[in-house]
Amino acid sequence: MSVLLPVEEALAQVLASARPVQDTVKLPLLDAPGHVLAQDVVSPIDVPGDDNSAMDGYALRASEAGQTLPVSQRIPAGVVGSALAPGTAARIFTGAPLPPGADAVVMQENCTERDGMVSVAGPVSVGQNIRPRGQDIAGGATVLQRGRILRPQDIGLLASIGHGTVSVYRPLRVAVLSTGDELVEPGSGELHSGQLYNSNRYTLASLLRGLNLEFIDGGIVADDADITARALRDAASRADCVITSGGVSVGDEDHVKNQVERLGRLDLWKLAIKPGKPLAFGHIGDTPFIGLPGNPTSVFVTFCLIARPFLLKLQGLDEPESPRLQARAAFNVDKPGSRQDYMRVTLVNTSGGLQATRFSNQSSGVLSSVSYSNAFAVIPPGTTVSEGDLVEVIPLDSLAR
Ligand code: AMP
Ligand code: MG
Repeated sequence: MSVLLPVEEALAQVLASARPVQDTVKLPLLDAPGHVLAQDVVSPIDVPGDDNSAMDGYALRASEAGQTLPVSQRIPAGVVGSALAPGTAARIFTGAPLPPGADAVVMQENCTERDGMVSVAGPVSVGQNIRPRGQDIAGGATVLQRGRILRPQDIGLLASIGHGTVSVYRPLRVAVLSTGDELVEPGSGELHSGQLYNSNRYTLASLLRGLNLEFIDGGIVADDADITARALRDAASRADCVITSGGVSVGDEDHVKNQVERLGRLDLWKLAIKPGKPLAFGHIGDTPFIGLPGNPTSVFVTFCLIARPFLLKLQGLDEPESPRLQARAAFNVDKPGSRQDYMRVTLVNTSGGLQATRFSNQSSGVLSSVSYSNAFAVIPPGTTVSEGDLVEVIPLDSLAR
């Protein structure tokens, strides 16, 4: 029996070989969410640009708050007031710049204005209800560092410092080939006995789209050595990475692995992972190649655990993250396995914390086990689990959207 590579070792090896894309493109801000920032961004301005009021109310000198003060000016947002004359207060609105001389704002609910005079209930302290200039961002500060995925809040942050465009890494081109004579494209007709619809192509294209990567459709590839070689070579010439599904196991009809060895090299094959053991990684010429298994659940698991972090690193992301939590198992694992099991489970919040319920059918061909679950429970090789034990879980939302 050949030795199976532990998941962590395989991942480390795969990541070590990743050569991140260097080309950048400038995108309008609204096209940039989900892309990887290619440069550190330094703010040219303070945000906010002025000390300003956090409330609708009255701006005054805190030391004069005990007196009834004439209202000497009105400062709505967007208007710059004049210096506050001693012994007076200014009517002011949220976001409006504080007039020079004022050192506090009292919210209008705590003030009474009558005949142009305002009096304040309660003590007032210097600085109260004032948002100081630069409290969000100081001019000259690095607001975002390269190598992060731009999230909606980052796009807003870039807008707040006046950027209309942002430099991101060129989206990776990823070719997907579905191998198998039994495959039929959904929507193209009914199945004959022995056939099945090509679901992997759709799972993979959607996973790539969720990562903002460009999907290059390599179509269905027949189980034939020459056809496989041609398809692999063509895909490698057009893509930054080639992903196949199926044809990497040990059967006579599994041609992918042999053809990759002919066209380039196989770096690793067969992982201690369940499902997904036959996963292969290598290069076709200089183009990295990931051979996913054929079974739909294995495709999902191995994409998420190995291909996803690899592609994100190729795309320029510094640290691909996937949050790991702990949950109480609502199941038993009596027999220790030889592979790390990514069990499909449903997490629910209970009074005793997170609880993981195991999906009834864990077969690698049962794709509904992924659709009907919301997390993987990671069961390391050689371990058993008793109900109530804490197990590590990875929410699927953190892996696939
Ligand atoms: P293979 O590794 O090629 O023997 O494939 C393993 C299993 O996955 C077989 O039952 C295949 O029919 C199935 N399979 C392979 N490719 C796909 C695909 N693109 N969509 C759905 N099932 C597939
Ligand atoms: Mg096959």
